[in-house]
Amino acid sequence: MEMNRRNLLKLGAVSAAATVASVALTGCSKDAEAAAPEAAAAAPAAELIGKHSVVVIGGGIGGLTVANNLKKMRKDTDILVIEKNDTFMSCPVSNTYIGKLKGMSLGSFIFDYAQPIEKHGYNWLTAEVQGIDREAKVIHTTKGAVGYDILVLSPGIAYNYEAQFPTWSKEKIAHVQRTAPAALIPGHEHVILERNLNNMDDGDVIITIPSGKFRCPPAPAERASMVAAFMKKEDIQGKVIMMAEGGGFAKKGAFLESWKEIYGDKIVFMPNTKVVDVDPVTKKVTYEKKDGETGTMGYQVLNLIPKNKANPVVAMADLEVSADTFGKVAMAGCTFQTKSDANVFAVGDVVGHAIPPSGQTANWAGKQCAKEIAARLDGGKYSLPVEKTPVNAGNVCYSMVGDNPEEAIMVTHDFSWTGSVIKGKGNVPKDAASGKYRSKGTAKALRDWYRGLMADLFA
Ligand SMILES: Cc1cc2nc3c(=O)[nH]c(=O)nc-3n(C[C@H](O)[C@H](O)[C@H](O)COP(=O)(O)OP(=O)(O)OC[C@H]3O[C@@H](n4cnc5c(N)ncnc54)[C@H](O)[C@@H]3O)c2cc1C
Repeated sequence: MEMNRRNLLKLGAVSAAATVASVALTGCSKDAEAAAPEAAAAAPAAELIGKHSVVVIGGGIGGLTVANNLKKMRKDTDILVIEKNDTFMSCPVSNTYIGKLKGMSLGSFIFDYAQPIEKHGYNWLTAEVQGIDREAKVIHTTKGAVGYDILVLSPGIAYNYEAQFPTWSKEKIAHVQRTAPAALIPGHEHVILERNLNNMDDGDVIITIPSGKFRCPPAPAERASMVAAFMKKEDIQGKVIMMAEGGGFAKKGAFLESWKEIYGDKIVFMPNTKVVDVDPVTKKVTYEKKDGETGTMGYQVLNLIPKNKANPVVAMADLEVSADTFGKVAMAGCTFQTKSDANVFAVGDVVGHAIPPSGQTANWAGKQCAKEIAARLDGGKYSLPVEKTPVNAGNVCYSMVGDNPEEAIMVTHDFSWTGSVIKGKGNVPKDAASGKYRSKGTAKALRDWYRGLMADLFA
């Protein structure tokens, strides 16, 4: 094999995958395991391995924020976090790893849980939650049952291939997931997608956008930008095709302007195009357009993003959820307490408020939720402060659109809580000096924001 830059990249993918495996093995599972015997000592009933005042399910952005901040406010609170993974991997900004932007390796997105456990001093259990008995206040996990007084859910999303492709067998779903992963859930899927891009020859990359609610709505278009940046850098001939089941996508005007000016006609948007089948062997996607036209398109790399739904942990808790296919948790007014159970709270992508499903929102919500729980444990009540004008809470979500020079766009949301749910009002601003949506300053702000969020969770 000729050892040119492309072939070196192909080899590089192996070491990236090896990094994930070794991080998973050397992560904080030792600390996590250590929590179990301690918990066992406090178990009131023989079948419980522990009972805790507050149990958080999910050590992602929302769950870690709740645990960290509750400990900051009430250091003696007995908290247990249950997380199935050994290590944390960030989804925010991970598309820059796909685009191979300067300094953005897999290692830039992986953090070990030992840091926040040591700093804040909560208990930790590396285990998968398999059932929740709200009446008995017991959580069933792969390592045993755990009791709670207050439960916080931040389990994130799951994929809903079954709803989108009802005729597919389990084996076919697994095959497509292995070869054309969605990469909306942190971990090996991002490694597969990056490897597939490294190994591709000239040809097209297809990214699909599902209908309904899904995690980080601007993520597929940011990914299209970063794949185009990668192909340009590596001189790979072909297009990036973004097939959307609906007519639009988040920050559409800002993305289309940036794509045209940075990439010419390299990124093609196909609206109202529903993926109806995939053949991962011959590498073909069959689609159906809204007007009834059908077609088949070959691909070199496919990033099939199926419909999303709330993580099954929500169904295990048997809470009231929205009637749509996602199933967001119904909340008790403008709080992070669930409508169904005063002892169960929820944050992150599963909450039923009208605010964007983002890491920034999960971090904000986690802090509010920690305040609510602290007030409850102190015998009081916390409400979001009376709104100020301008609103002093919100979301900002950046998307990198260009490399060399790095340029990004953003959407901001002002949150308000005068009605029965917390709402977010979005705005996609332009750079005042250039009159364009994208700017180098926003790209710098993206990197600063990411460092700040990770420092808030881990430093
Ligand atoms: C490509 C991409 C780019 C993004 N970019 C941005 C961005 O620029 N800005 C931004 O603000 N947001 C961004 N996001 C969105 C952000 O990642 C999510 O909104 C955020 O992670 C939601 O937090 P969460 O706590 O709800 O879920 P997660 O962070 O996913 O955490 C859920 C945790 O629960 C654990 N879990 C699940 N089931 C179980 C179980 N049964 N037992 C035990 N543990 C379990 C999971 O392992 C996971 O650690 C992006 C997302 C993607 C995919």
